[in-house]
Amino acid sequence: MRTAVVTFAVLAVSALASGYPPQSSIDGMQGLRVACHTRDQLDFVRKFRNTPGFDLAAIERDPTYPIHVFVAANQLEQFKRALATKGIGYDVFIDDVGTITREQKQQSQLHSSDLLSSFPPWDRVRDRAKKKTSILEVLSIGRLLHPQITSYLETLALTHGHVAKLINIGTSHEDRDILGVKITSSDARPGPRPAILVDAGIHAREWLGPATALYTIRQLAENASNSHVFDNVDIYVLPSINPDGYVHTHQVDRMWKKNRSPSADGVGCFGTDVNRNFDYKWRSSGNRSCDSDYSGPGPFSERESQALKHFVESEVGSLKVYVSLHSYGKYILHSWGDKPELPENAPKLECVARKAEAELSKVRGERYQVGSSYNLLYPVHGGSKDWALAVGGVDLTYTIELPSEKYGFFAPVSEIVPVGREVFEAIKVFAKYAEGGICQGV
Ligand SMILES: [Zn+2]
Repeated sequence: MRTAVVTFAVLAVSALASGYPPQSSIDGMQGLRVACHTRDQLDFVRKFRNTPGFDLAAIERDPTYPIHVFVAANQLEQFKRALATKGIGYDVFIDDVGTITREQKQQSQLHSSDLLSSFPPWDRVRDRAKKKTSILEVLSIGRLLHPQITSYLETLALTHGHVAKLINIGTSHEDRDILGVKITSSDARPGPRPAILVDAGIHAREWLGPATALYTIRQLAENASNSHVFDNVDIYVLPSINPDGYVHTHQVDRMWKKNRSPSADGVGCFGTDVNRNFDYKWRSSGNRSCDSDYSGPGPFSERESQALKHFVESEVGSLKVYVSLHSYGKYILHSWGDKPELPENAPKLECVARKAEAELSKVRGERYQVGSSYNLLYPVHGGSKDWALAVGGVDLTYTIELPSEKYGFFAPVSEIVPVGREVFEAIKVFAKYAEGGICQGV
């Protein structure tokens, strides 16, 4: 049996070395929660990272936490046998990625008529604005196609223009606008104000991120009782900063993570992991264009990372907090990603994160872990949060991994509001920091 394990590992590694298969089919793909208990077992499972047919989604540094591994149908039996031989336990938490994807797509088609009425064509928007109708009655993952996100933001800027200004930070590889809103007080005096930035969708398949960002926008712009949150702070929200990847997950491959720029190495693969493309500790070694965490041919080679860079630079001095929404896990992560040491301002990063976590946990008792990405998860090079802290001049930068351990990337619509509510509590704490209210002397 030992031979079988070794052979399988060798096969996996040689498949990796030999090049670049087509994207694995999601039909019959399963999500396994794999429980490693020793470093040796953990190393064995980690070897499958970037192996064709495998996708390692949640990897903790602590071996006692389960790793989530998505495995293509044609590798499944062999992988399960290999785990058994190594004495590694697992359970299946997603039975068939193909089925769950089709079910969610069907749900969104069922509601397509609602969609059309909720998001009127541009020329009818002004009429709606006059009637002061609420544009978005319903917000759900299935309905959050790219055009609807765009339409919502554009419409909001017309109907709630006193507090929500449309911003466009640049275009994607396929020329889609990267849009967002600036939430600002209608009484704001002219001149710079402290600001926070929330983005989402840098990893295309993490749909809970854009949904949570849109929930945040709605709470800020459409719910007047929240206007105190931005009395003294501007809040920028960019709900989908990798729109090409997002569209690709809806139209072609639900498990797609990167953007959609073609590789320059002639291999024929697509996509750079935009969250590995920032010019801070950017890494080229072990960097293969077909890998799901490919960092690109050079730092800032991608239009999406360039757009975010230019935006952050344009707000230098005013931007106090940057939060990037990902899924999944339950973490508020700070720097650094590339090494175990902490940044100089770690006490302040921790102070604000812990206050945010304490507030969000009051919503439904969920507890998020607070710590550095390197120490809690795994090494990350060229990430947006590290760049924004080290180079971009932002005081405090975080990644929030939104909770969806039960559903993986396929959080149902019913998760949006509870997750949105708790993240909104954290955002209020970040805004409080930006206006000088908390953790200043730390
Ligand atoms: Zn992510």
